[in-house]
Amino acid sequence: MSTGTHQLKAPIVAPNGITEIASGVWVIPDSDHTLLVPNIGIIVGARATLVIDTGFGPDNARVVIQEARRLSAGRPIYLTHTHCHPEHGFGANVICGEVTIVYNEAQWNELQEKGPVLLRMFRNQIPALAPMLDGVEFVRPHIRYTGFLTLDLGDDQTVEFREFGGAHSRGDQGILVRGSKSVLFTGDLVEERYFGMLGDSESHVLPWIDRLKRLEQLNPEVVVPGHGHMGGPELPADYRAYFELARRRVAELRGSGELPEADIVERVAAELLDLHPDWQNQNWARKAVSDLAWPARA
Ligand SMILES: [Zn+2]
Repeated sequence: MSTGTHQLKAPIVAPNGITEIASGVWVIPDSDHTLLVPNIGIIVGARATLVIDTGFGPDNARVVIQEARRLSAGRPIYLTHTHCHPEHGFGANVICGEVTIVYNEAQWNELQEKGPVLLRMFRNQIPALAPMLDGVEFVRPHIRYTGFLTLDLGDDQTVEFREFGGAHSRGDQGILVRGSKSVLFTGDLVEERYFGMLGDSESHVLPWIDRLKRLEQLNPEVVVPGHGHMGGPELPADYRAYFELARRRVAELRGSGELPEADIVERVAAELLDLHPDWQNQNWARKAVSDLAWPARA
């Protein structure tokens, strides 16, 4: 999720960019870092299809399901969202009669609790985009799991849903496709050239570092981040490096005892921004540093 103050280009999913990145694994990319457009996956097996994320609002969801139907030749379609944030799936209710929705339990709880709040917040903070959210409702998933779930799509295409919550959101999921290649969809646990967003009191850097290590241990050949360009296993590793650097620098400066905590936060945030001048969500660099006081302060 990102509510940066950039001049917003309308977050419209562009299906003409769809690419088959491994056999039966299709990605509709985020239109070259368009804010509020996620990378969307469509995984096609002999038995069924899985859609991963549907974009911001009902119109995008309709575009995504149309692509999924085109690739599926009448096979049943499953749908999951990487997590509960608006640009990943608000509006999927308009296609819920055509799909079997899979969420983890924490994700469903979080969506029920925060969905209406986020909907109001986005409508108020970005009025130009509010019409895109008309008709959004929050619907119960058909299948819920805790921890881990495997789905066999046929054709040697198996999907593993894994809970990684408590880093970017309560219900974070990683979705690992095991087929001709292992492809990991990370949601916003990994972003390419975006600072990580810590949106509420359930988002924290230290657990995020832990979740990134666990994503790396899945040894994916291809990694599809929530936003930004796809890559290989270096993506979660590089993302962890930025959080680890913040943690190390804060520890060093605290250890030296020369600066008060507030100055340490400013200094390290400035260092992160110097290191990554081309990353978006710059307002979140400082938050990541100040969050390193958690859980000591909690
Ligand atoms: Zn998010």
